Amino acid sequence: LMGQMMEKPMLISSIIEHADRYFGTSEIVSRRVEGDIHRYNYSQCHQRSKQLANALTQLGVKLGDRVATIAWNGYRHLEAYYAVSGSGAVLHTINPRLHPEQIVYMINHAEDQYLFFDITFLPIVEGIAAHCPRVKGFVMMCDRSHMPADSKLSNLLCYEELLAAQSSDYHWPLFDENSASSLCYTSGTTGHPKGALYSHRSTILHSYASAMPDGLNVSARDTVLPVVPMFHVNAWGLPYSAPLTGAKLVFPGPFLDGKSLYELFEQEQVTFSAGVPTVWLGLLNHVSQHGLRFSSFKRTVIGGSACPPAMMHTLRHTYGVEVVHAWGMTEMSPLGTSCTLLAKHAGLPESEKEAVLTKQGHVLYGVEMKIVDDAGEELAWDGKTYGNLMVRGPWIIRSYYKAEGGNVLQDGWFATGDVATIDADGFMQITDRSKDVIKSGGEWIGSIDLENVAMGHPAVMQAACIGVFHPKWDERPLLLVVKKQGTEVTKEELLHFFEGKVAKWWIPDDIAFIEALPLGATGKILKNKLREQFKEHQLP
Ligand code: ADP
Repeated sequence: LMGQMMEKPMLISSIIEHADRYFGTSEIVSRRVEGDIHRYNYSQCHQRSKQLANALTQLGVKLGDRVATIAWNGYRHLEAYYAVSGSGAVLHTINPRLHPEQIVYMINHAEDQYLFFDITFLPIVEGIAAHCPRVKGFVMMCDRSHMPADSKLSNLLCYEELLAAQSSDYHWPLFDENSASSLCYTSGTTGHPKGALYSHRSTILHSYASAMPDGLNVSARDTVLPVVPMFHVNAWGLPYSAPLTGAKLVFPGPFLDGKSLYELFEQEQVTFSAGVPTVWLGLLNHVSQHGLRFSSFKRTVIGGSACPPAMMHTLRHTYGVEVVHAWGMTEMSPLGTSCTLLAKHAGLPESEKEAVLTKQGHVLYGVEMKIVDDAGEELAWDGKTYGNLMVRGPWIIRSYYKAEGGNVLQDGWFATGDVATIDADGFMQITDRSKDVIKSGGEWIGSIDLENVAMGHPAVMQAACIGVFHPKWDERPLLLVVKKQGTEVTKEELLHFFEGKVAKWWIPDDIAFIEALPLGATGKILKNKLREQFKEHQLP
């Protein structure tokens, strides 16, 4: 017997239609590349998205065609999110921090028809255009007055002119909800980047789940500032979940330094934000140096790499900002888990609550996870046993775009490449990326634990732990530390700081102080670079 409910495909266009109809006057505020602040609302965003959809049709973009963007978080990028996917084409977001050769590879691999880009990226686009012969046109996201007087690009179009020539009379097409909606490539630290091709259905399901109270907890009463970029992993779904719930959106554009962010937080009375730990480092440095306070900021999601407990503590206790630690990956749309407390944790002392909140947390409904050993046998959920983390669910890839890498599933599960524990309550904790695990005498040492301890020292700004060759133990941990400005700590003091905090044999063999850690295109520490750099390091 079949149910008798309506069959309406879950399409991305329905989100912006909903936002227009029910939250039409909710604001979208953008700090533009042009330097000024732009404001409008969901109704205007919807109108302009439809104008852009008409423009795409006129440019010959058809169902399933790929259209690329290289852009910051801003209202025009949001319009492209809805116009491209809503009209049935596929939005390919490109991370400008990748090497130009990788950008060229992705554009050609995706067979992008058009490339939309922010003013900032004109030099990148001019540099790569000749290598992307299939791209029919390059659309600069600005008005005529900001277009370059002369450009190397012969097929350069002006975004605002494209829109101005179109009416906002447009009916979003209906099609199969399993159709592709957007494409995001992994950073590909080794080999070519591989594409995760999302569908309308996967995106809508991810938006529903991520907005829930124990997920990102987004509501119509929030003012959301996504620091996490729209050019990578869909800004953790916020460009969908904010309009879905009617939250006000604030976009920081290219201005991601602590001072600019703080100003925007205060001016727009931001309540909720999301970003990788390195972003919060900059913001927290700024507020602490200037003795500032947040007047509206209540909650933030931190993920992309492990949130150091010391950072969580400062945000919670010094600034009264609740931290939701989240974990996910490009291949997972991206959210898999988020960490919030259970009712039974309410009476715990603060330190014990923070020990729970440091974990990467619970799965969102829709995602299943397990940990397995190298033979694929499932391991216990005891919070101690660690193994390879496997996931499955409707917003997790079943294969990469164009089947790159072949069959990536093992018995229907996707191997995340992360090593984790899961406790009896189902809280998952990442101990390492499997390729970053330090193997000492046949046993594993979790580098994240060691980094977390180091970051708890008042003189340490950033820390990364890598394995270096040891004649007896194969590998031993070497800790690399960037000191906070104006502070001092010796190697001996810092090693002493580890005592009693981790097993004795985990304590790093050596510490090297360095000026800065190498960061990748998504703000993560590049441990492969560090391993290369410290290959010859002699342990004492
Ligand atoms: P890319 O694949 O482009 O490097 P992703 O954002 O997809 O970027 O990276 C996913 C990986 O980032 C995860 O597999 C995990 O190793 C790491 N990661 C994400 N969130 C966390 C977190 N909260 N704690 C620890 N590691 C994390």
